[in-house]
This record gives sequence, C-alpha cells and structure tokens, in this order.
Amino acid sequence: MLNPVSDAFKSELQAALPGTAFREVTEAYLTEPRGRYHGRAGLIVAPETVEEVALVVRAANRHHVPVVPYGGGTGLVGGQVAPDLPDPVLLSMARMARVREVLAAENVLIAEGGAILAEVQAAAEAEDRLFPLSYGSEGSARIGAALAVNSGGLNVLRYGSARDLCLGIEAVLPTGEILHGLKRLRKDNTGYDLRHLLIGSEGTLGIITAAALKLSPRPAETGTALIEVASPEAALEVLQRARGLCNETLSAFELISGQGPRFVAEAGVPARLVLEPVPDWMVLIEVGTAADGAPGEVLERLYGGALEDGLVGDGVIARSEAQRAEIWRLREAIPEANRIIGSVASHDVSLPLGVIAEFMEGAEAALAIFGDVRINAFGHLGDGNLHYNVFPAAGKRREDYDGLRQAVTETVHDLVVGMGGSFSAEHGIGRMKVGELERYGDPAKLATMRAIKTALDPNGILNPGAVLRLEDG
Ligand SMILES: Cc1cc2nc3c(=O)[nH]c(=O)nc-3n(C[C@H](O)[C@H](O)[C@H](O)COP(=O)(O)OP(=O)(O)OC[C@H]3O[C@@H](n4cnc5c(N)ncnc54)[C@H](O)[C@@H]3O)c2cc1C
Repeated sequence: MLNPVSDAFKSELQAALPGTAFREVTEAYLTEPRGRYHGRAGLIVAPETVEEVALVVRAANRHHVPVVPYGGGTGLVGGQVAPDLPDPVLLSMARMARVREVLAAENVLIAEGGAILAEVQAAAEAEDRLFPLSYGSEGSARIGAALAVNSGGLNVLRYGSARDLCLGIEAVLPTGEILHGLKRLRKDNTGYDLRHLLIGSEGTLGIITAAALKLSPRPAETGTALIEVASPEAALEVLQRARGLCNETLSAFELISGQGPRFVAEAGVPARLVLEPVPDWMVLIEVGTAADGAPGEVLERLYGGALEDGLVGDGVIARSEAQRAEIWRLREAIPEANRIIGSVASHDVSLPLGVIAEFMEGAEAALAIFGDVRINAFGHLGDGNLHYNVFPAAGKRREDYDGLRQAVTETVHDLVVGMGGSFSAEHGIGRMKVGELERYGDPAKLATMRAIKTALDPNGILNPGAVLRLEDG
C-alpha cells in the first residue's frame, strides 16, 4: 500500500535537508518528450550528496511514499513521469552533477549520477580521452539515468552500450542503504555483480548516485560518409564489407530511409539534405582511426568496390569537419522532423542482422491493412537496431488514425518478436512497454524479476509501475 506525500513526510524532510534541496513543482517535471504521459508530484527534492539521497529514500520507505528518480527528463518510455501513483516524491539528480575525477592514465572517469552526458564527454576530451556514449539528447540526459536505462546511441557498434562503459556504481537501494560499488577495476569476480542488476533497472531497484566510467583513446582521424544504397539488403552487405575493411575502427553505421530527409524538408527542420534527389535508402558510415589511418581512403575503397558491384549509388565522403557536421546534422534532424510530423506509432526494435531485410518487407506488407501510412525506418543498423516509425499518409493527420495505434504496434512487435528480435532495443520499458513485457516476456524471467524487486524493495516504493505493473494494494 503506497501513500501520497503527506504534510508529516514533507516536514520531516524539510527539517533534515537545507532549503536549497527543494524545487517548485513545475510543468517541466511532469511532461515528457513525446507528450504521452502527464506525471504527478507531491514534492520535488534535489539532494546534493549520496547521504542526502539515502535520507530521502529511508524516509520514503518508512512512510511508504513512492519515489520517482528524475534525471534530464528525456526518456522516451515514460519512466520518469508517474501519472497513476499517489503523489510521489520526485528525486531530481540535478544537484549531483559533478565530474569528480578523470584518471587519464587508467582511462577512467568518475562522475556523479546527475552529471550531464555532454559534460562527461567534454571532461574526457579535456584530458584527450573519449567517452563514446552519444545521442541526440546528450545535452540534457544525465549519466545515472543513461545507466539506469542502459542507453545506446550512435557508437554502440564499436564501444558498446552504457552497460559496457561502466566499471563501478554507487547507489542508494530502496531501503536507503548505500551500495559502495564505485570500483574502477576491469576484473572483479567477487560474487553477484549488482552493478549489472542496477544498470537497466530504470530506477526500480536503486538510485545511481555515481559511476566509474570507462574511457577510450580519441581517434586521431575520422572519416564520415553518406552513401545511397540500393536496398536495406544492400546496406547489410556494405556493413559486412565495412567491417572487413575497417575492423574495430568502424564506429557508426546508420541506416536512413529517404522518408527521413523528406520529413526534414516537409517539417522545415534546418539541415542540408546532402544527397539530392533524396535516395530511398542511405547509410551513414563513420570510421575513426589512429594517426595515419587514412579513414578517407578506406571509405573511398569501400565505396568504389560497392559501386562496381551495384550496391551503392550517389555518395559523399566528408572532406572537411564542416561537411562531416552537415552529414550528422541531417541524421540528428530526423527525430526532430518525426516529432513535428507526429507519428501514429513509434517502435525501437532490434533484430538479428540476418532477418532485417525480410522484416522490412514483412512489416510493410502487414501494415497495409491499416490503409495508407508512411514508414520512416532508420537507426543503428550496425547494432541491428531500427527505429521503425509509422506516420499518417500525406495530407492526413495523426488523429485520423485514432484507435489504431495499439493494433499497429502489436503488428510490428509480433513480427519482431516472431523473428527473434526485441521490442525494446535501447529506450527501455518505462511505463509505455509494461504490457509488451508481459505479452512477450519469458514467464521465468518475469517471475525472477518480480522476486528480485520484492527482495530489494519490499514496500515497492522505487519507481512503482515502471518496468513491472503496479500490483493492487
Ligand atoms: C532527441 C532524443 C534522442 C534520443 N536518442 C537516444 C538514442 O539514440 N539512444 C538511446 O538509448 N536513447 C536515446 N534517447 C532516450 C534516452 O534514453 C534518454 O535521453 C536518456 O538516456 C535518459 O536520460 P535522462 O537523464 O533524460 O533520464 P530521465 O528521462 O530523467 O529518466 C529516465 C529513466 O531513468 C530513471 N532515472 C533517472 N535518474 C536515475 C538515477 N540516477 N538512478 C536510477 N534511475 C534513474 C528514471 O526514473 C526513468 O525511469 C533519446 C531521447 C531524445 C529526447
């Protein structure tokens, strides 16, 4: 049984924490990027130390008040907003935003859970190192949340997802106990690895207050290309060739459907289309090498061979940093344009590479029963991760498809799961995909997840209703 924030609870925290720890409840904390959920909050508190986080959680556990951890608010599955809870306490990480230390010789950076992703990247760069986690919301997303959702982004192909970049974690558990796991070891086989339990738990098992992160050498030279491909199948063949030629220096391989740039133009998002007329399919390839690695020449070779074999058409290999930025700007403009056009349904799926082309054909055919729609499939093809988004036909509005969203999503997800894929590749479950997890999840996995949740959080106070359905009572 959960209770809303009460006057007694508020007074207890106000007596124990400085006035600067409290934030006004404003709309910004209650909305999320896709506008699908509107949250509630009885109190917003922004602690400055791990001890203060522990104090808040201990009090919440005693009063059975739900706690919703809050980073930058950019999550796309409604994990950070809670519409259906008794007024919870929102625990903002905004005042725990320091990069504590960069240990360049160890290739390690220690950051607090509220550190902004772009600031973590900049702190690594200042020491001539790379923190490779990168995506569109990096100017607002916070590192504790990035770990809590195990986010992915543009460089997973080479460097892995957030999970692969984390050596140690400090966290506050649902009872208010502090987990001191801020190790910076690459080898540490000392029992259950609680770091990996907390990563991807979306704030339901603990609040990540600090992390030891893995850094890499910065590539001395970078080559970037945008190339027309004949089809998604041809894109996969080019990916195999790129892997063969570039080996581990291949850092991004993005598939872009022509619908993406066409939406950018239609929505008036400022970005150059780079390839005109816009081809039906393109790939964005990035290679980062050590000094004298000549990434431009490697891309030329890849392009030349693929052109001879009829896999690719028009293409641009960036000759300057400005051209490289233009290519990436186009990639980043696509989600912005998608938001303006307004999707009927969006899907963040992953598939075994071998079935992606078959999925594309199957999904288009299956969606035909919903009448005229436009499909914008794009994403991190090197990771088998597609953002497969369905939009109204030209001249129609999202509202014209009201009532169809769930059926569209079921059609796409049934196909994905049937082909051995995942209905959530990198955004998590949040509140949006709780039903999908129940529908497609392995019963043994779900039962184990519930048992873990009950063991760690007996009163069910940490982010209730995210990942696992809120149980009655
Ligand atoms: C334009 C755009 C592009 C994006 N691109 C990508 C992409 O390419 N790849 C990708 O993976 N994601 C992407 N995302 C989503 C991405 O998951 C989030 O941007 C980010 O990782 C979440 O960070 P946040 O600080 O905004 O978290 P929030 O939205 O505040 O929270 C996300 C979840 O984490 C929990 N949480 C927050 N802080 C903590 C903490 N310290 N400890 C425990 N739990 C916590 C919250 O309760 C919530 O469940 C994108 C989002 C946008 C808006």
